Amino acid sequence: MRSYQTIILIAVLLLSVGCNKNYQQFGAHKKAQNVILLIGDGMGLAQMSTAYYFGEGQPNFSRFPIIGLHQNKPTDELITDSAAGATAFSTGYKSYNAAIGVDGDTIPRETILEMAAARGMSTGLIATSSITHATPAAFFAHVKERGLQEDIAAQLPKEPVDFFAGGGLKFFNNRQDGRNVLEDLAKAGFTIDTARLDRPAKLSLSQKYGYLLAPDGMPKMQEGRGDFLPQATQLALDYLSLNKKGFFLMVEGSQIDWGGHNNDSEYVIEEVKDFDKALGVALDFAKKQGNTLVIVTADHETGGMSLSAAKVRMQDDYNHIKPTFSTGGHSASLIPVYAYGPGAWAFAGIYQNNDIFRKMVEALRWN
Ligand code: MG
Ligand code: ZN
Repeated sequence: MRSYQTIILIAVLLLSVGCNKNYQQFGAHKKAQNVILLIGDGMGLAQMSTAYYFGEGQPNFSRFPIIGLHQNKPTDELITDSAAGATAFSTGYKSYNAAIGVDGDTIPRETILEMAAARGMSTGLIATSSITHATPAAFFAHVKERGLQEDIAAQLPKEPVDFFAGGGLKFFNNRQDGRNVLEDLAKAGFTIDTARLDRPAKLSLSQKYGYLLAPDGMPKMQEGRGDFLPQATQLALDYLSLNKKGFFLMVEGSQIDWGGHNNDSEYVIEEVKDFDKALGVALDFAKKQGNTLVIVTADHETGGMSLSAAKVRMQDDYNHIKPTFSTGGHSASLIPVYAYGPGAWAFAGIYQNNDIFRKMVEALRWN
């Protein structure tokens, strides 16, 4: 063999080893057994970027090999709310603002959580809002209007949810109709804790676990919520991963959106930091487990947040960031998607929010 042929051969071999490594990291080679979908409600690029300027150490966002963008326009308007946004992720159908698990014609559509359960997988939902709030609700409930939180609560015992943690107790036990839906949850096999995120002595798939730890939304991080979100994520993963058929888990950092609505950058920053910790828990699990697709995204951006320079005597001070906001509502900007694990490669590029549903289904090889 001539020397230039040897060099070419070595180069090709090196290249193929390199590609193979990327091929595995981007998850093109195998089927996902589990999916963890983490939604930072209202988390646009500016909100996510605060983790890089106001956080400690390297954010967990940096651990994702694949980044894409989604457009989140609903069927009836240009700018989405969380209900239509989450319904697009959960069902693959774009719908109207306020829709929960129903399409543009108010027809209930099967959610990825329901589909997972029908295939023998375990399912979980975690939020720092009420568990009946738009984002988590769109994964298990089917109602025409997001404000019907008591109806949403009443649907939970009939739905194939195995684990949930968040706020919203009042929609179960302090209702207009006088019903106590906690009793229905107990009949459906749930152990309900309304006091704290206590870890059961022994987690068992023959049990279901529900944590309702606030009357409505959970406290803010600034009010001492502590490590609820990362700890609930860890507990859910320890439980759901007992199922060898796999699981679907949705984790929401609900209050990034609320900080944006309040145009309160400190509120946003603390909620993003907390959400980033939950990402770390999900990624550590996925790395160890090997067959878990982790997706991080937001439904939309809130506040038109910008990481502007601080102003000193009318001048921009490029040494200091003082976030500003352009609206008290949501904005239309495209939203980042971060992916890790089997099927992750498909999340590169620019696509619609409801394509995220299809990409998850493809990663699970359900079709
Ligand atoms: Mg939400
Ligand atoms: Zn909002």
